[in-house]
Amino acid sequence: MTKQDILQAYNDYIMPTYTRTPLIFVKGKGMKMVDIDGKQYLDFFPGWGVSSLGHCHPKVVSAVRDQIDKLIHLPNNYLSAQQAKLAKELIYWSFDGKVFFANSGAEANEGAVKLARAFGKGRYEIISFDNSFHGRTLAALTMTGQQKYQEGFKPLPEGFKTVPFNDLGAVINAVNDKTVAVIIELVQGEGGINVADKDFVLGLRKLCDEKKMLLIVDEVQTGIGRTAKMFAYQHYGITPDIMTLAKALGGGLPIGAMVAKRAIADTLTAGKHASTFGGSPLVCKAALGVFRAIQKEKLLANGQKMGEYLKEKLQALAKKYSVIKEVRGLGLMIGVELTISGKAIYEECLKNGLMINCTHEKVLRLMPALDLTKKQIDKALGILDKALETVIG
Ligand SMILES: *Cc1c(COP(=O)(O)O)cnc(C)c1O
Repeated sequence: MTKQDILQAYNDYIMPTYTRTPLIFVKGKGMKMVDIDGKQYLDFFPGWGVSSLGHCHPKVVSAVRDQIDKLIHLPNNYLSAQQAKLAKELIYWSFDGKVFFANSGAEANEGAVKLARAFGKGRYEIISFDNSFHGRTLAALTMTGQQKYQEGFKPLPEGFKTVPFNDLGAVINAVNDKTVAVIIELVQGEGGINVADKDFVLGLRKLCDEKKMLLIVDEVQTGIGRTAKMFAYQHYGITPDIMTLAKALGGGLPIGAMVAKRAIADTLTAGKHASTFGGSPLVCKAALGVFRAIQKEKLLANGQKMGEYLKEKLQALAKKYSVIKEVRGLGLMIGVELTISGKAIYEECLKNGLMINCTHEKVLRLMPALDLTKKQIDKALGILDKALETVIG
């Protein structure tokens, strides 16, 4: 297919659900991407948080190669060593409990909603937060505290309430005798890299304990090392009752997971929930490759170090450009809030070979691979610096 054929086919045969940048990619290795014209890019937002080891990480590639001609899919009424190993690995890194395997973040969150309702025995209401993002399926969409995603899809399912982020009083006011759970992203991703306050999270944990409500932490974007801890909740000294995962878990392959504390993990008994593709040997093997890479290559420590360096350099840029209002984030999940729209800056960076993201209109989002180097940071920041200069004039 020529470039023109591909563009035409997208136009004719693919639903227009995304604002697409008309760039066709053919190759990715680490943080380097190559488009159909052979132009190279430095990817500071690999796969929207999916490819957090960079593209085609060798440990993921070899794990997949090793598995793909043995067994790709296995229905969940049978057992595989790969799924068993991955569940053990997840529990080793998180908290004592059990895992349900799904295929995506939204699906993991839907599972959490069902588990919470089954646990609630008549209590069903779930509280979520303004500017949150939990996915596009109907319950996940309803929990997502951003009107723009919900427009045109009413009626939405019942039993959900949204309150302001970092406001414990608002949560307390919203709780009634039907409330069964609170769902939170500890660093809101799509909502603009908003970090939850420590006191707020501790208060939330205490409130959930007192009212026998479940604290669901959506780690779909923050999980698997993104914030320089394996899971973001580990920055707060709390343990969730349920944690949901997807994005980076499979090193690029589609896998989601819901992890629940042992005391509630047997609530969804046989027949109550299922997912045909969930946790196949192939995707589980890929995820095991991800954990191996993080451990062997000490990527959490590197993420911490590089995150600090990146933030420092961004703070320096903030001194130079008054349109930068704030630099914030945890580990390698970093937001640069502007006083202006970030669209032109995103486009200018792309033109000069740097892939970043702009969310919530005014927040540049950087989520580079965990094996990032100082040299790559220097290069990216050079491009960003020039882009800011060009756009602001
Ligand atoms: C991306 C995301 C989701 C949805 O994941 P999908 O795999 O796209 O369904 C849910 N929650 C958070 C925090 C996310 O960032």
